[in-house]
Amino acid sequence: MTTDLLTQKALKDKVYSGQRISSEEALELLQNWSLTDLGLAADHLRRKRTDPSMVTYIVDRNINYSNVCYVDCSFCGFYRHEKDKDAYVLSNEEIGQKIQETIDLGGTQVLMQGGLHPNLPFSHYTDLLRYIKKNYSIHIHAFSPPEILFFADTYKMSLEEVIGQLKEAGLGSIPGGGAEILVDRVRDKVSPLKCKSDAWLSVMSTAHKLGLKTTATMMFGHVETLEERIEHLKRFRDLQDETNGFIAFIPWTFQPSSQVNPEGRQPVGADDYLKTLAVSRIYLDNFDNIQASWLTQGHKIGQIALGFGANDMGSIMIEENVVSSVGAFFTVTTKELRRLISEAGYSPKQREVFYNLV
Ligand code: SF4
Repeated sequence: MTTDLLTQKALKDKVYSGQRISSEEALELLQNWSLTDLGLAADHLRRKRTDPSMVTYIVDRNINYSNVCYVDCSFCGFYRHEKDKDAYVLSNEEIGQKIQETIDLGGTQVLMQGGLHPNLPFSHYTDLLRYIKKNYSIHIHAFSPPEILFFADTYKMSLEEVIGQLKEAGLGSIPGGGAEILVDRVRDKVSPLKCKSDAWLSVMSTAHKLGLKTTATMMFGHVETLEERIEHLKRFRDLQDETNGFIAFIPWTFQPSSQVNPEGRQPVGADDYLKTLAVSRIYLDNFDNIQASWLTQGHKIGQIALGFGANDMGSIMIEENVVSSVGAFFTVTTKELRRLISEAGYSPKQREVFYNLV
């Protein structure tokens, strides 16, 4: 561990010059650098890597095509079992209506994810993709790795076959959901029935090789150690070196509630969130885009995150439960997000999934 002053100076020079840091050095930053020092270093690198004058955001809609799931993750309050009264599977037409509303409001993408429904045929998903592509001009970002692994297992297909057929039917990119922390000790505790780390990464690696870009996520602040957070980043950096298929890194904090809280954790505070964000920018030297998490950390910390390595404010999601009043809700939210970005000193720019400006 680097502790003496001379070594700290060398580490600082290494960070500021943009050289790759080791996992041990990342841990040193996370444990021993001050919040201010980390923010300054991460902001320096963010300004070198992306346009320092602007911060981007995307307008999209999160559609949960079904809430039926058999996995029972301990942190998930969303899933239902098939026989529950409020279990649902949306029809193509219902999804189409949501997409039309998204397009009408300037949205460029739908993010579609669902639970792992044990009793739908594979054609349900490919038919849905074809239906959307035939009727709407919109990018489909859908099916996170646990869903894709579930398809492969349930329908006795290889990952290449599943991803290839989804791509052929209209899938445009894959969201990084279900990553939580890519260390099996952690996964065994928070989502024991969900895929293991290697399997999660094998989906992304296969997708990248088949020409589909994906995002990388991290949900932290539950049962993981700081070393395990760094290990999670390492798995992403290694795969990105190999494939260059990740579009962005999206870290957010676990939100404990009285119903969902493994080991009774306190919520991650701003200090821990911002430090982890900054170390992510420094460590992930092969990622261009890193998102701020205003959804879990609030608007003010979201603004501050823009000085801690983030260059993107993420998504203005048109929520499921505001369909009828969506126009007003959306307008206010878009204005609010643009105002937050402007007030923080950047020019707000709408982007699409690949970070091209709209
Ligand atoms: S797999 Fe997804 S939907 Fe199912 S319980 Fe886990 S987090 Fe919830």
